Amino acid sequence: MMKILLHELEKAKGQALPLEGFVDVKSVRLDGTETLTDVRFSGECHKEADLVIVTGTITGIIQAKCAKCLTPTEYSLNVLFDEKFSEAPVDEESDIHFFHSGMIDLSPYLVEAIVLELPYVYVCKEDCLGLCPTCGTNRNEKQCECKNERIDPRLADLALFFEKNKSDNK
Ligand SMILES: [Zn+2]
Ligand SMILES: [Zn+2]
Repeated sequence: MMKILLHELEKAKGQALPLEGFVDVKSVRLDGTETLTDVRFSGECHKEADLVIVTGTITGIIQAKCAKCLTPTEYSLNVLFDEKFSEAPVDEESDIHFFHSGMIDLSPYLVEAIVLELPYVYVCKEDCLGLCPTCGTNRNEKQCECKNERIDPRLADLALFFEKNKSDNK
């Protein structure tokens, strides 16, 4: 648990205090295909009037299968963190987080920041060729003899759309 104690910040008299440590990512909701490891936060916090300002970077390793070729691949997690906290009641609309009892537990905010940054789809490389839909060969590694109609999946929807329009107009 990564905590900030208000009385320690007050003792620092406006000076920034370093914040460093592992982030507990057990509560990060993953879609089952990815794993997060070695997730750390490195940053600082300081007090500005009534506000506690926390800035830093979350880094870590994501392991996930490429959506196209299914090869397990490592991606780096790199999330900028910049949040404000206040012990005074805050407006619901405001982006300032409320805390009480002189203590901020950063963990849920770090987890939220990570979740927002996780990609929807993992692709091992931009030009990944994926698997052959006929024989399953990883086309990044070798070419097979199959004759697949080369339709970009993004264009396939469009093709369907035009197909439908054509029949509607008959
Ligand atoms: Zn791939
Ligand atoms: Zn093939």
